[in-house]
Amino acid sequence: MEGKGEAPAIGIDLGTTYTCVGVWQDDRVEIIANDQGNRTTPSCVSFTDTLRHVGDAAKNQAAMNPTNTVFGAKRLIGRKFNDISYLVDISWPFKVIPGPGNKPIIVVTYKGEEKHYAAEESHPWYSILLIKTKEIAEAHLGSTVKNAVVTVPAYFNDSQRQTTKDAGLIAGLNVMRIVSEPTAAAIAYGLDKKATSAGGKNVLIFDLGGGTFDVSLLNIEEGTFEVKATAGDTLLGGEDFDNRMLKHFVREFKTKNEMDISGKPRALRKLRTACERPKRTLSFTTVATIEIDCLYNGVDFYSRISRARFEDLNMDLFQKCIELVRKCLRDANMDKNSVHDVVLVGGSTRIPKVQQLLQDFFNGKELCKSINPDEAVAYGAAVQAVILSGEGNDKVQDLVLLDVTPLSLGLEILGGVMSVVIPKNTKIPCEKEEKYTTVKDNQTRVLIHVYEGEGTKVSENSLLGKFTLSGIPPAPKGVSILNVCFSIDVNGILKVTAEEKTTGRKKKITIKNGKCRLSKAEIKKMVQDSEKCKAEDRYHKKKVEAKNSLVNYAYKMQNTIKYDDEIASKLTAVDKKKIEDAVKFVLQWLDGNQLAEADEFEDKKKELEIIWHPIMAKIYMG
Ligand code: AMP
Repeated sequence: MEGKGEAPAIGIDLGTTYTCVGVWQDDRVEIIANDQGNRTTPSCVSFTDTLRHVGDAAKNQAAMNPTNTVFGAKRLIGRKFNDISYLVDISWPFKVIPGPGNKPIIVVTYKGEEKHYAAEESHPWYSILLIKTKEIAEAHLGSTVKNAVVTVPAYFNDSQRQTTKDAGLIAGLNVMRIVSEPTAAAIAYGLDKKATSAGGKNVLIFDLGGGTFDVSLLNIEEGTFEVKATAGDTLLGGEDFDNRMLKHFVREFKTKNEMDISGKPRALRKLRTACERPKRTLSFTTVATIEIDCLYNGVDFYSRISRARFEDLNMDLFQKCIELVRKCLRDANMDKNSVHDVVLVGGSTRIPKVQQLLQDFFNGKELCKSINPDEAVAYGAAVQAVILSGEGNDKVQDLVLLDVTPLSLGLEILGGVMSVVIPKNTKIPCEKEEKYTTVKDNQTRVLIHVYEGEGTKVSENSLLGKFTLSGIPPAPKGVSILNVCFSIDVNGILKVTAEEKTTGRKKKITIKNGKCRLSKAEIKKMVQDSEKCKAEDRYHKKKVEAKNSLVNYAYKMQNTIKYDDEIASKLTAVDKKKIEDAVKFVLQWLDGNQLAEADEFEDKKKELEIIWHPIMAKIYMG
């Protein structure tokens, strides 16, 4: 756009279902309405024979052009086709196929030609949506927008953050900062209610949007926001509630009309679009109706659904949200009573049952609903934008932003072991240096493999990148010292540098877009797997300890009566036999029960103690 000048930096929330943009104007954040007068714009793109539509225009023609209307594409970013294949037919009327490396590919027809878009890359969708958002802001501000702060889900890894920055470049925007969505929401919240008490305020951000769920625990102290822990699910949100209702009505339509529309994209799209309205209505009333003329084959569909039925259809999903809240608190090692405020973000937090379950979980605590849940993230992004451009007033200048690493980062050392350099949940930006040494005599090169994950072995983690540091002077093993430095910038982008001390030879790698990074679900799974492994480890450790304790006790009894002359001299023949028999019995039992449970070993030990203690008491007390 030809502008009058440069507009202030804007804050953009690129939501799964809606995009929202804000700007700092006249000492406050203004949420900018689009050309339709709406303060949020559907994150929807459609392709026709002649045109590409974005936003409301795309959503409005979705029922007529379902297979070429793409929405919720954010849910596909960084995922494997297998993970989402169960959602393909029912959730997305557009075609999603597996591509190379099992990555989902979105297939649409545009200007009569079949186009394949790699869904694991956010470029195509983000850049199209960012262009639209830039236009909306420019129309409002009357000048060219160059700079923006863009939000991403908390679990977006650095490759996905980098991709988002690249999408900004494609759209002609300099992305000054990538901010996690819940952190942005907390900024909006923190502006109003700065924490002054010692230790600050612990705020839980419960963000249930259209396609994703994020829960974050933040500490807010004197304008400083620190993310203590995050949890979430990229496949959980309002669209899932729509889909549950959709399935319910598909069944009802089948029963009523003996027609199955489950494989009919156009009818499904029409029904799905229609489901969102009663869902929203049910947040305010106890019964809602649905009316669709000519849903399929000229048959109309009129029905009603109660709030209770809707809640029943989705209860497992609502409970899952609470489970993730529990997990987030566990990760932060925080008791729920230490949470000062619980903030609702995302359109789906208007659902009364969700609010009630959350409130019950926090023992009846009043939830913070003062921030418009659809706009809070963009609001925070706009605040961050004004801080970064140095144009804000005292109200915002002292806000600092801290974020954390979602997974541990480290490198492979001898034996395939993961040596963690930056542990999970470390505040970013950060820099950490570790010293390593050569493992072979005269070793002149070292291969550095950088991994992400919680496994103790690198085979359980994800390889982010590798490089070789060569030219190390030959020396006996352990003599050469290598300094390896991991640094993560404010956008969460990782740089790894290795330097050999004596020669000063240096090599570095930036973990950028295109590397095989992890999706949120993979991160979640890895964390879960490692938690499972830890639980198994604890179980085995307990078992081994119990077994060892029993064996030691049995041999101690045997050796004492054999080699401790004082005790042996005072022992009656009957007691000696009793002990020998008991030990023999236990050792035989052990031969056949090596895999017994910890409590069985403990019981057997108690049986020995019951024999041993009275005999010893007799000896010592006379
Ligand atoms: P967001 O991604 O935060 O923009 O949230 C959008 C989601 O919120 C969509 O799935 C909407 O259907 C849902 N939503 C908006 N308003 C309501 C409401 N009143 N009741 C239930 N869900 C809502």
